[in-house]
Parts: sequence; C-alpha cells; structure tokens
Amino acid sequence: MKPFVLSNGEIHFLWWFIQGSIMSQSTRGRLHNAWGMCERHAWGFIAVDAAFRQGYLHGPAILYADLLHRAWAAFPPRGLISLRRLKHRLRNRGPCLMCELEYGPDTRTPEDVAALISSVGWCSGWKTFLSIIGRA
Ligand SMILES: [Zn+2]
Repeated sequence: MKPFVLSNGEIHFLWWFIQGSIMSQSTRGRLHNAWGMCERHAWGFIAVDAAFRQGYLHGPAILYADLLHRAWAAFPPRGLISLRRLKHRLRNRGPCLMCELEYGPDTRTPEDVAALISSVGWCSGWKTFLSIIGRA
C-alpha cells in the first residue's frame, strides 16, 4: 500500500482552502458538482483541517453536512424513485477540485511550505499532522 504523503503543493492549497477559499462561490459549486473531493484530497483536507484547527474538524463537518443535505434532496419526499433516476441525480458532474488543478503527490510550490507550517506551529495538531503526512 502506498503511504499517504501530501506534497508541498497539496499542503499549500489546503492551507488556503481552510483559510477561506472553501467559501468562494465557484469553489463551492465545484465541490457540489464533484460531491466533494476524491478520496486522497478528502483525507488531505481532513488531516490539514484537524492539524491547523486544533482537531475541531469544523470545515469538513460543514462541507459534508452540505453534501449530505444535497444527497438527501435527491430522494423524493414521498413515493419511490427508480435506481436509474437516483443514480442520475447523484452522479458526478465534475472532477475533484484539486485533481482538476493538477495537485498530486509530486506537486511543488514556489513557496516554502515548511515556513508556512512553522508559522502556525503553535497549533496542537502540528506534530500529529507531520506524522500523518510522513514528515515527522
Ligand atoms: Zn483529488
């Protein structure tokens, strides 16, 4: 099994994602279309949010509550729906936001992500985060 190690570019993206870009209308639209992120980036989002937000996971909770409400709305309030129609309503309408932007295990960033992490090193999840991403 390949170890889960976030690249500098992914950490950099996710840092700014939790700082507020998650609230951008276009970002929310893309997250809606893709039902969130792919498995790699969803776990990366949770790991980064847990590390830098002291384990509260408020950001992922809001995003996934929103997505679950959207999924719930795909079901009719009464009666039955065909599986084909339900699959159609729940299908992906776009790729993972980060994958579409070509963030992956080898993505670099011109900024020094170590300096970024050090600047917020006061957070309680800092050491846990480093171990999760394989840098401790
Ligand atoms: Zn992805």
